[in-house]
Amino acid sequence: MLKDKSVLIVDDSRPVRRFLEALVSRLGMRAATAETGAQALEAWRTSAFDLILLDLILPDIDGIQVLRTIREQDQTICIILVTASGDVQTAIEAVRQGADGYIDKDDLLAPGQQDAFQDLLERSLSLREGLSARRELEMMRADLYAMITHDLRHPLHIIQTASVTLLDESLPLSQENRRELLQMIADSVNSLIHQLDEFLDYTKIDAGFLNLQLTEVNLAEVCATVVSRIEVLAHSKHQTIQVNLPPDLPPVRADEQRVQQVLTNLLDNAVKYTPEGGQITLTAAADTTHICVTITDTGIGIPPDDLRRLFRRYGRGTGEKVRKIKGTGLGLLIAKQIIEAHGGKIWAESTEGQGSTFSFSLPRAV
Ligand code: ADP
Repeated sequence: MLKDKSVLIVDDSRPVRRFLEALVSRLGMRAATAETGAQALEAWRTSAFDLILLDLILPDIDGIQVLRTIREQDQTICIILVTASGDVQTAIEAVRQGADGYIDKDDLLAPGQQDAFQDLLERSLSLREGLSARRELEMMRADLYAMITHDLRHPLHIIQTASVTLLDESLPLSQENRRELLQMIADSVNSLIHQLDEFLDYTKIDAGFLNLQLTEVNLAEVCATVVSRIEVLAHSKHQTIQVNLPPDLPPVRADEQRVQQVLTNLLDNAVKYTPEGGQITLTAAADTTHICVTITDTGIGIPPDDLRRLFRRYGRGTGEKVRKIKGTGLGLLIAKQIIEAHGGKIWAESTEGQGSTFSFSLPRAV
């Protein structure tokens, strides 16, 4: 786990720097060094490190101050203090301020202590990685809830405006105007219900309540069911859906309803984000352990920045064309949760303006 990790060694004593450099190089890590607090902060700002070995007593800035400055902005990096003997009290205080651990310089020099040093580095790095992953998840949730509540306001606002207009007896509304306003209300209510259903499904899965009912599932049958439902929509846009499945496609071990849900979302997106007259192709292939399903469209495609965020962040595409098409921005996040819960993978490739390909894999039934 330590191999190729980059470490910054901060100590004003040259022999200590040399000693630590040799120690971490032996563990396969890449080392850089700094003599002062200012140099340490400069190095941290300009390069990416996984770990900092930080002396507490530095000639310019106090080590604790260096630690605080870094921690205020960087929750990902692992920081271990290298203390002089007898400085345990300060080291404990530093751990309170966000350090991941501490090690006594004299202990390090003692024979047989280098395994303990390696253990400490491995443990601290893996704990910090866990913390960072949790923090990212929390940030993503906060993002998601803020954006969803914002997006829910849009249909509510339409309902409010349309109903106030309908109730205003001073307005000369024709029968046709009234019908249009009622239709707007009905569409907004439908959109709200759909958004809330997806949101509830997402939060349920996110909270760990995805109870998969695993059986042997014939993917060809699931594809046929979903395609027959989506074809109506595709035909209304003069699109063709071509299904090219090998005749002997082996079954997968999966929850049939959930696989249907993923396939429906991907095919529905392919139809939505492909202009009139486009082509959608559904294929599948088996290897020794998994079956991979692929949906290709000739649609608007996805810009590289949006593609990177896909499956990771709640949100709809940023392009002008996407904004005109209805959606919740949750479908792919739900699809990812479902596929990964099965032990599969989901991914996308796309060229803006030319089309997209979404693929997912599921384990074969044994
Ligand atoms: P929704 O389609 O409801 O907005 P999704 O989570 O299903 O939500 O998709 C997220 C975003 O990914 C969409 O807003 C769109 O920008 C992009 N996207 C998904 N599928 C396609 C596709 N087949 N072609 C182009 N863009 C797509």
